[in-house]
Amino acid sequence: VNDCVVGIDLGGTKIMGAVVDPQGHIRHRVFKLTAAQEGPKAVLDRMAEAACEAVRGAGLKLNDILAVGIGSPGPLDPDAGVVVFSPNLPGWDHVRMKDHIQEATGRPVFMDNDCNVATLAEHALGVGRGISDLIGLFLGTGIGGGVIIANRLHRGFSKQGGELGHVVVDVNGPKCGCGQRGCVEALASRQVICRRIVEAVRQGRRSVVTETDPKKMRTSLLAQALAQNDDLVREVMTEAMEYLGVAVASIAHVVSPEMVILGGGILEALTDEMLGVVEDSARKRALPLVMDHVKFVRSQLGEDAGVLGAAVLARQALACSLSP
Ligand SMILES: [Zn+2]
Repeated sequence: VNDCVVGIDLGGTKIMGAVVDPQGHIRHRVFKLTAAQEGPKAVLDRMAEAACEAVRGAGLKLNDILAVGIGSPGPLDPDAGVVVFSPNLPGWDHVRMKDHIQEATGRPVFMDNDCNVATLAEHALGVGRGISDLIGLFLGTGIGGGVIIANRLHRGFSKQGGELGHVVVDVNGPKCGCGQRGCVEALASRQVICRRIVEAVRQGRRSVVTETDPKKMRTSLLAQALAQNDDLVREVMTEAMEYLGVAVASIAHVVSPEMVILGGGILEALTDEMLGVVEDSARKRALPLVMDHVKFVRSQLGEDAGVLGAAVLARQALACSLSP
Protein backbone atom coordinates (compact mmCIF):
# COMPACT_ATOMS: atom_id res chain seq x y z
CA VAL A 1 0.00 0.00 0.00
CA ASN A 2 2.92 2.37 0.56
CA ASP A 3 4.09 2.53 -3.04
CA CYS A 4 1.40 4.87 -4.37
CA VAL A 5 1.84 8.43 -5.62
CA VAL A 6 -0.66 11.27 -5.92
CA GLY A 7 -1.39 13.00 -9.21
CA ILE A 8 -2.99 16.46 -9.31
CA ASP A 9 -4.45 17.89 -12.52
CA LEU A 10 -5.14 21.63 -12.39
CA GLY A 11 -7.57 22.73 -15.08
CA GLY A 12 -9.24 26.04 -15.84
CA THR A 13 -12.56 24.83 -14.42
CA LYS A 14 -11.75 21.85 -12.21
CA ILE A 15 -9.06 20.22 -10.13
CA MET A 16 -8.68 16.45 -10.04
CA GLY A 17 -6.59 14.66 -7.42
CA ALA A 18 -5.96 10.92 -7.55
CA VAL A 19 -4.00 8.20 -5.79
CA VAL A 20 -2.24 6.10 -8.40
CA ASP A 21 -0.63 2.69 -7.77
CA PRO A 22 2.59 1.42 -9.42
CA GLN A 23 0.57 -0.30 -12.18
CA GLY A 24 -0.98 3.04 -13.13
CA HIS A 25 -4.40 2.26 -11.69
CA ILE A 26 -6.35 4.99 -9.96
CA ARG A 27 -7.20 3.91 -6.38
CA HIS A 28 -9.29 6.97 -5.55
CA ARG A 29 -10.10 10.26 -7.26
CA VAL A 30 -11.42 13.59 -6.01
CA PHE A 31 -12.80 16.57 -7.95
CA LYS A 32 -12.90 20.21 -6.86
CA LEU A 33 -13.84 23.38 -8.66
CA THR A 34 -10.88 25.55 -9.60
CA ALA A 35 -12.75 28.85 -9.07
CA ALA A 36 -9.70 30.72 -10.36
CA GLN A 37 -11.36 34.08 -9.67
CA GLU A 38 -10.67 33.54 -5.95
CA GLY A 39 -6.93 33.91 -6.63
CA PRO A 40 -3.88 31.64 -6.51
CA LYS A 41 -3.82 31.00 -2.74
CA ALA A 42 -7.37 29.61 -2.69
CA VAL A 43 -6.67 27.43 -5.74
CA LEU A 44 -3.44 26.05 -4.23
CA ASP A 45 -5.30 25.26 -0.99
CA ARG A 46 -7.95 23.35 -2.94
CA MET A 47 -5.26 21.42 -4.84
CA ALA A 48 -3.73 20.37 -1.50
CA GLU A 49 -7.20 19.42 -0.18
CA ALA A 50 -7.86 17.33 -3.29
CA ALA A 51 -4.58 15.48 -2.70
CA CYS A 52 -5.27 14.88 0.99
CA GLU A 53 -8.87 13.76 0.40
CA ALA A 54 -7.77 11.38 -2.36
CA VAL A 55 -5.23 9.82 0.03
CA ARG A 56 -7.85 9.41 2.78
CA GLY A 57 -10.35 8.05 0.24
CA ALA A 58 -7.83 5.39 -0.77
CA GLY A 59 -7.54 4.36 2.88
CA LEU A 60 -3.98 5.68 3.14
CA LYS A 61 -2.06 8.30 5.09
CA LEU A 62 0.07 11.07 3.56
CA ASN A 63 3.19 9.32 4.88
CA ASP A 64 2.35 6.26 2.76
CA ILE A 65 2.62 8.39 -0.40
CA LEU A 66 5.98 8.43 -2.19
CA ALA A 67 5.50 11.78 -3.94
CA VAL A 68 3.03 14.18 -5.50
CA GLY A 69 3.02 15.02 -9.22
CA ILE A 70 1.24 18.03 -10.70
CA GLY A 71 0.13 18.91 -14.21
CA SER A 72 -0.60 22.63 -14.41
CA PRO A 73 -1.36 25.15 -17.10
CA GLY A 74 1.76 27.09 -18.00
CA PRO A 75 4.17 28.46 -18.99
CA LEU A 76 5.96 27.27 -15.89
CA ASP A 77 9.42 26.50 -14.55
CA PRO A 78 9.31 22.79 -13.67
CA ASP A 79 12.51 22.81 -11.59
CA ALA A 80 11.67 25.86 -9.49
CA GLY A 81 8.03 24.75 -9.38
CA VAL A 82 6.78 28.20 -10.36
CA VAL A 83 3.83 28.96 -12.64
CA VAL A 84 4.95 32.05 -14.55
CA PHE A 85 1.47 33.01 -15.73
CA SER A 86 -1.52 31.41 -17.42
CA PRO A 87 -4.22 32.67 -19.76
CA ASN A 88 -6.75 30.42 -17.98
CA LEU A 89 -5.79 31.54 -14.49
CA PRO A 90 -6.26 35.29 -14.32
CA GLY A 91 -3.93 37.14 -11.95
CA TRP A 92 -1.36 34.35 -11.72
CA ASP A 93 2.13 35.83 -11.69
CA HIS A 94 5.09 33.65 -10.66
CA VAL A 95 3.06 31.46 -8.30
CA ARG A 96 5.21 29.12 -6.15
CA MET A 97 3.05 26.04 -6.59
CA LYS A 98 5.62 23.36 -5.72
CA ASP A 99 6.60 24.92 -2.36
CA HIS A 100 2.97 25.40 -1.38
CA ILE A 101 1.88 21.82 -2.12
CA GLN A 102 5.07 20.42 -0.57
CA GLU A 103 4.37 22.31 2.66
CA ALA A 104 0.71 21.29 2.72
CA THR A 105 1.35 17.59 2.10
CA GLY A 106 4.83 17.07 3.53
CA ARG A 107 5.72 14.99 0.46
CA PRO A 108 8.17 15.70 -2.39
CA VAL A 109 6.44 17.48 -5.27
CA PHE A 110 7.24 17.40 -9.00
CA MET A 111 5.42 19.38 -11.67
CA ASP A 112 5.21 20.09 -15.38
CA ASN A 113 2.75 21.63 -17.79
CA ASP A 114 -0.56 19.91 -18.47
CA CYS A 115 0.21 18.84 -22.05
CA ASN A 116 3.63 17.43 -21.15
CA VAL A 117 2.12 15.27 -18.41
CA ALA A 118 -0.76 14.16 -20.69
CA THR A 119 1.86 13.06 -23.24
CA LEU A 120 3.78 11.21 -20.51
CA ALA A 121 0.56 9.44 -19.53
CA GLU A 122 -0.24 8.31 -23.07
CA HIS A 123 3.35 7.12 -23.49
CA ALA A 124 3.55 5.17 -20.23
CA LEU A 125 -0.04 3.96 -19.81
CA GLY A 126 -2.08 4.82 -22.88
CA VAL A 127 -2.07 4.43 -26.63
CA GLY A 128 1.67 5.21 -26.88
CA ARG A 129 2.87 2.26 -24.78
CA GLY A 130 5.96 0.70 -26.30
CA ILE A 131 6.50 3.59 -28.74
CA SER A 132 9.89 5.28 -28.25
CA ASP A 133 9.30 8.46 -30.28
CA LEU A 134 5.97 10.24 -30.40
CA ILE A 135 4.25 13.59 -30.29
CA GLY A 136 1.05 14.45 -28.45
CA LEU A 137 -1.15 17.31 -29.62
CA PHE A 138 -4.03 18.47 -27.46
CA LEU A 139 -6.76 20.77 -28.73
CA GLY A 140 -8.55 22.69 -26.06
CA THR A 141 -9.26 26.36 -25.66
CA GLY A 142 -5.69 26.67 -26.94
CA ILE A 143 -3.37 24.04 -28.43
CA GLY A 144 -0.61 22.33 -26.49
CA GLY A 145 1.66 19.40 -26.99
CA GLY A 146 4.41 17.17 -25.75
CA VAL A 147 7.32 15.37 -27.39
CA ILE A 148 8.80 12.00 -26.39
CA ILE A 149 12.22 11.29 -27.90
CA ALA A 150 13.94 7.98 -27.19
CA ASN A 151 11.41 7.23 -24.43
CA ARG A 152 12.00 10.50 -22.59
CA LEU A 153 9.93 13.67 -22.44
CA HIS A 154 11.86 16.34 -24.33
CA ARG A 155 12.11 19.66 -22.45
CA GLY A 156 15.20 21.16 -24.05
CA PHE A 157 17.57 23.85 -22.81
CA SER A 158 14.90 26.37 -21.79
CA LYS A 159 12.66 23.62 -20.32
CA GLN A 160 9.93 25.06 -22.58
CA GLY A 161 10.34 22.58 -25.43
CA GLY A 162 7.18 20.97 -26.75
CA GLU A 163 5.15 24.20 -26.97
CA LEU A 164 3.66 22.86 -30.18
CA GLY A 165 0.76 25.34 -30.26
CA HIS A 166 3.15 28.08 -31.31
CA VAL A 167 4.55 26.37 -34.37
CA VAL A 168 3.90 28.91 -37.14
CA VAL A 169 1.80 27.60 -40.02
CA ASP A 170 1.03 30.92 -41.79
CA VAL A 171 3.47 33.82 -41.52
CA ASN A 172 0.73 36.29 -42.50
CA GLY A 173 -1.91 34.58 -40.38
CA PRO A 174 -4.03 35.96 -37.54
CA LYS A 175 -2.55 37.16 -34.26
CA CYS A 176 -1.92 34.54 -31.59
CA GLY A 177 -2.27 35.05 -27.84
CA CYS A 178 1.54 34.91 -27.64
CA GLY A 179 1.89 38.03 -29.78
CA GLN A 180 3.11 36.33 -32.96
CA ARG A 181 1.15 35.77 -36.16
CA GLY A 182 -0.09 32.52 -37.63
CA CYS A 183 0.72 30.05 -34.84
CA VAL A 184 -1.33 26.86 -35.23
CA GLU A 185 -3.12 27.83 -32.00
CA ALA A 186 -4.37 30.99 -33.75
CA LEU A 187 -5.78 28.91 -36.62
CA ALA A 188 -7.02 25.63 -35.18
CA SER A 189 -7.89 25.98 -31.50
CA ARG A 190 -11.42 25.41 -30.28
CA GLN A 191 -11.75 29.11 -29.50
CA VAL A 192 -10.87 30.04 -33.08
CA ILE A 193 -13.17 27.42 -34.60
CA CYS A 194 -16.14 28.59 -32.51
CA ARG A 195 -15.47 32.27 -33.26
CA ARG A 196 -15.30 31.60 -37.02
CA ILE A 197 -18.62 29.78 -36.98
CA VAL A 198 -20.37 32.51 -35.00
CA GLU A 199 -19.00 35.24 -37.29
CA ALA A 200 -20.09 33.42 -40.44
CA VAL A 201 -23.60 32.88 -39.06
CA ARG A 202 -23.79 36.56 -38.15
CA GLN A 203 -22.90 37.38 -41.75
CA GLY A 204 -25.80 35.32 -42.98
CA ARG A 205 -24.35 31.82 -43.56
CA ARG A 206 -26.84 29.04 -43.00
CA SER A 207 -26.02 26.59 -40.23
CA VAL A 208 -27.72 24.42 -37.62
CA VAL A 209 -25.60 26.28 -35.07
CA THR A 210 -27.53 29.19 -33.59
CA GLU A 211 -25.37 29.87 -30.53
CA THR A 212 -24.15 33.48 -30.71
CA ASP A 213 -21.55 33.31 -27.92
CA PRO A 214 -18.42 31.39 -29.04
CA LYS A 215 -17.52 30.74 -25.39
CA LYS A 216 -20.80 28.92 -24.82
CA MET A 217 -20.54 26.67 -27.88
CA ARG A 218 -20.28 23.09 -26.66
CA THR A 219 -18.16 20.45 -28.35
CA SER A 220 -21.20 18.18 -28.54
CA LEU A 221 -22.94 20.89 -30.61
CA LEU A 222 -20.09 20.88 -33.14
CA ALA A 223 -20.13 17.08 -33.31
CA GLN A 224 -23.88 17.15 -33.83
CA ALA A 225 -23.59 19.73 -36.61
CA LEU A 226 -20.99 17.56 -38.36
CA ALA A 227 -23.23 14.52 -38.06
CA GLN A 228 -26.04 16.54 -39.65
CA ASN A 229 -23.77 17.48 -42.57
CA ASP A 230 -23.69 21.16 -41.70
CA ASP A 231 -21.66 22.77 -44.50
CA LEU A 232 -20.41 25.72 -42.49
CA VAL A 233 -19.18 23.67 -39.52
CA ARG A 234 -17.57 21.12 -41.85
CA GLU A 235 -15.81 23.88 -43.80
CA VAL A 236 -14.45 25.66 -40.70
CA MET A 237 -13.40 22.41 -39.02
CA THR A 238 -11.74 21.09 -42.17
CA GLU A 239 -9.68 24.25 -42.58
CA ALA A 240 -8.60 24.12 -38.92
CA MET A 241 -7.60 20.44 -39.17
CA GLU A 242 -5.66 21.19 -42.40
CA TYR A 243 -3.61 23.74 -40.47
CA LEU A 244 -3.10 21.27 -37.64
CA GLY A 245 -1.70 18.86 -40.24
CA VAL A 246 0.71 21.55 -41.46
CA ALA A 247 2.02 21.88 -37.90
CA VAL A 248 2.34 18.09 -37.57
CA ALA A 249 4.40 17.94 -40.78
CA SER A 250 6.81 20.60 -39.51
CA ILE A 251 7.18 19.00 -36.09
CA ALA A 252 7.65 15.55 -37.67
CA HIS A 253 10.66 16.76 -39.64
CA VAL A 254 12.40 17.59 -36.35
CA VAL A 255 11.24 14.70 -34.17
CA SER A 256 10.56 11.89 -36.67
CA PRO A 257 7.85 10.31 -34.52
CA GLU A 258 6.48 6.80 -34.94
CA MET A 259 3.12 7.99 -33.62
CA VAL A 260 1.09 11.20 -33.50
CA ILE A 261 -1.44 11.24 -30.66
CA LEU A 262 -4.33 13.66 -31.03
CA GLY A 263 -6.37 14.53 -27.97
CA GLY A 264 -8.24 17.16 -26.04
CA GLY A 265 -11.97 17.73 -25.66
CA ILE A 266 -12.70 18.81 -29.19
CA LEU A 267 -10.80 15.99 -30.93
CA GLU A 268 -12.27 13.33 -28.70
CA ALA A 269 -15.75 14.41 -29.78
CA LEU A 270 -15.00 14.55 -33.49
CA THR A 271 -15.34 12.04 -36.29
CA ASP A 272 -12.66 9.88 -37.88
CA GLU A 273 -13.23 11.97 -41.01
CA MET A 274 -11.78 15.04 -39.25
CA LEU A 275 -8.80 13.07 -37.92
CA GLY A 276 -8.27 11.93 -41.51
CA VAL A 277 -8.03 15.56 -42.59
CA VAL A 278 -5.15 16.12 -40.14
CA GLU A 279 -3.38 12.98 -41.35
CA ASP A 280 -3.79 13.72 -45.08
CA SER A 281 -2.65 17.30 -44.63
CA ALA A 282 0.47 16.18 -42.76
CA ARG A 283 1.33 13.39 -45.23
CA LYS A 284 0.94 15.74 -48.19
CA ARG A 285 3.51 18.14 -46.75
CA ALA A 286 6.18 15.90 -45.28
CA LEU A 287 9.06 13.97 -46.77
CA PRO A 288 7.70 10.48 -47.43
CA LEU A 289 10.63 8.86 -45.62
CA VAL A 290 9.75 10.85 -42.49
CA MET A 291 5.98 10.40 -42.66
CA ASP A 292 5.33 7.08 -44.38
CA HIS A 293 5.00 4.88 -41.32
CA VAL A 294 3.68 7.39 -38.81
CA LYS A 295 0.53 6.21 -37.01
CA PHE A 296 -2.15 8.82 -36.30
CA VAL A 297 -4.21 7.86 -33.27
CA ARG A 298 -6.62 9.31 -30.75
CA SER A 299 -5.56 9.75 -27.14
CA GLN A 300 -6.87 6.97 -24.94
CA LEU A 301 -6.91 8.18 -21.36
CA GLY A 302 -9.43 11.02 -21.65
CA GLU A 303 -9.89 13.10 -18.53
CA ASP A 304 -7.64 10.79 -16.48
CA ALA A 305 -4.59 11.71 -18.60
CA GLY A 306 -3.67 14.66 -16.36
CA VAL A 307 -3.56 12.85 -13.00
CA LEU A 308 -2.01 9.72 -14.52
CA GLY A 309 0.69 11.75 -16.27
CA ALA A 310 1.38 13.70 -13.09
CA ALA A 311 1.80 10.35 -11.32
CA VAL A 312 4.17 9.09 -14.04
CA LEU A 313 6.16 12.33 -13.77
CA ALA A 314 6.51 11.92 -9.99
CA ARG A 315 7.65 8.30 -10.31
CA GLN A 316 10.20 9.13 -13.03
CA ALA A 317 11.54 12.07 -11.02
CA LEU A 318 11.85 9.89 -7.91
CA ALA A 319 13.70 7.20 -9.87
CA CYS A 320 16.15 9.84 -11.09
CA SER A 321 16.75 11.33 -7.67
CA LEU A 322 17.28 7.87 -6.13
CA SER A 323 19.66 6.54 -8.77
CA PRO A 324 23.37 7.08 -8.08
ZN1 LIG B 1 1.54 31.74 -30.59
